Amino acid sequence: MDDELTLMAVHAHPDDEVIGTGGILARCADEGIRTVLVTCTNGEQGDGPGGVKPGEDGHDEAAVSALRLAELRESVAHLGIDHLELLGYRDSGMAGWAANQAPDAFANVPVEQAAARLAALMERYRPQVVVTYDENGGYGHPDHIQAHRITLAAAETSGVPGKLYYTAVPRERVAELFAFLRSSGAAPEDLELPEDFGVPEEQITAVVDVAPYVERKIKALEAHASQGENIFLLRMPADAQHRAFAQEAFIRRFSRVPAADREDHLFDGLR
Ligand SMILES: [Zn+2]
Repeated sequence: MDDELTLMAVHAHPDDEVIGTGGILARCADEGIRTVLVTCTNGEQGDGPGGVKPGEDGHDEAAVSALRLAELRESVAHLGIDHLELLGYRDSGMAGWAANQAPDAFANVPVEQAAARLAALMERYRPQVVVTYDENGGYGHPDHIQAHRITLAAAETSGVPGKLYYTAVPRERVAELFAFLRSSGAAPEDLELPEDFGVPEEQITAVVDVAPYVERKIKALEAHASQGENIFLLRMPADAQHRAFAQEAFIRRFSRVPAADREDHLFDGLR
């Protein structure tokens, strides 16, 4: 089965799979490309049933992770993902949270130890294409940064992936989206984005059209209902959601096959 086209996405928490890679996962699945989602943590530091926040009374980590893993399976079904692999590490929480100190928090696990487990999955599934976050984890979450580190290490030791990409949010498109939200009176008042949010357009190397998969991405995101308060994209008007979800952008970290400067599919050059 070594030659079976396979995409592997490596994410930190249940729900991270949808916004940046839900479309490419669904599209690849439709195109007969095998899809593997690796989720590194159980999401214990998410909101609990009834919206109870981590650190508040009644926030039960076991209940939170059970609920989030059930939501993840529903999301995976909406996106048509073939294989879900759970590394089962403990959620480290956002930077600065007390949970960062837990010795078994994912961000505190030695990189080579977690990378060895991921490398074994790469050797089993032989993905030609692997996607994860950039060195800042997209937005600085310790578990996202750790996912980045173990993915690079596993790609290197296994030598399996032909191409490795980072998810990317094009800065200009975020600005356009917010201008659109303001003009339609739907801009969230509680959301302030830093000036340097996202990456400049010239750093993007692949933009994939996933417009036919927007509905499925929304259903997958809605499956993560317990985290709904933290997912502002779910509260946007449908036309704004469509703008936000119809394309996914990536930065190619490396390619062992000839690849164009600007691609419109992650499997360009592999089929
Ligand atoms: Zn996350």
